[in-house]
Amino acid sequence: MSTKDFKFQVTKHIEGLAKKSPAIYSQFYPSEAEEINPPCMYEDPLIEERYTVTKGLVHKYGNRVLCLLTLVCGAYCRFCTRKRKVSDALGGLLTDEDLQNIENYLVAHPNINEIIFSGGDPFTNPVVLKKALKKFGALPQIKVIRIGTRMPIVAPENVDLTIGDAIREMKQPVYLLMNFEHPDEITEETRSVCEHFRKSGAMLLSQSIFLKGVNDNYDTLYKLFSGLIEIGVKPYYIFRCDPVEGAFHFMTDFEKEIEIMTKLRSNLSGMACPMYVIDVPQGAGKIPVPLNYWNFDKTTYKDFHGVEQKLVEFATHEVKKEKVRERAKR
Ligand code: SF4
Repeated sequence: MSTKDFKFQVTKHIEGLAKKSPAIYSQFYPSEAEEINPPCMYEDPLIEERYTVTKGLVHKYGNRVLCLLTLVCGAYCRFCTRKRKVSDALGGLLTDEDLQNIENYLVAHPNINEIIFSGGDPFTNPVVLKKALKKFGALPQIKVIRIGTRMPIVAPENVDLTIGDAIREMKQPVYLLMNFEHPDEITEETRSVCEHFRKSGAMLLSQSIFLKGVNDNYDTLYKLFSGLIEIGVKPYYIFRCDPVEGAFHFMTDFEKEIEIMTKLRSNLSGMACPMYVIDVPQGAGKIPVPLNYWNFDKTTYKDFHGVEQKLVEFATHEVKKEKVRERAKR
């Protein structure tokens, strides 16, 4: 499968919201702009395939692993970083044998103490998710569990609430990571699902992505982050959009993002303000971006190993964007 095979699929809930909200519409409905793919865009920007150690398991950072339980989602986000494989319903679901291979890998690497269940969306297959929670949660080395899901946002009525019972039984803290991108996603139905999982003992976090035309302005993000904290969801990260094929039109100017985040940091409570990071292309880590309270060089950074790197991709990105604009004018 390649990014070109990425499927279009929305839920009834998203269909209803998209009729009223252009910001929801553009997240899920295909656009001709997806054809604009300058060379600075990648099929696998975070080079996860290189770090795949057994089917469904990515081991990129020392003490934690990413476990892709399924490649199915409720609705497919057009900016998805894993669109090269996500939406492949048949290829992705982990079997009992795959889960056993993962367990064998974990046991052979006792330094791993955190597991992140992702996909696809693990909430689309509660049976496998519950099995994995039980199996890996029983390993004494696993101290922290995270589950990434967008189901409470895209299909709150289809969320299997019994996942909350499984979470309540875990001895480890369980963090539920949801991706909220716009305040129109905070509906009454979604709020109610969040409350259910909060009462099940999960800690609720949100990761957002700067998306041009969706949330690249101060007022929208102020409303989103204030709204999240009011429903018990802590805004955790906001990312620069990954340079994944088909998502070029979502990429916001770097300077604009820094300006918005500086203003948000000045006006939101610390609790409501997420950390602004770039998941640096080619897998060099989630690098925090300084805000405009400091004078800093916006063209270089140090990676997780302390090695100075050039933000070549961003420079290239801006140049290519100019070229695309020029071409569009002609
Ligand atoms: S829910 Fe996550 S994995 Fe699924 S399409 Fe959206 S970003 Fe990709």
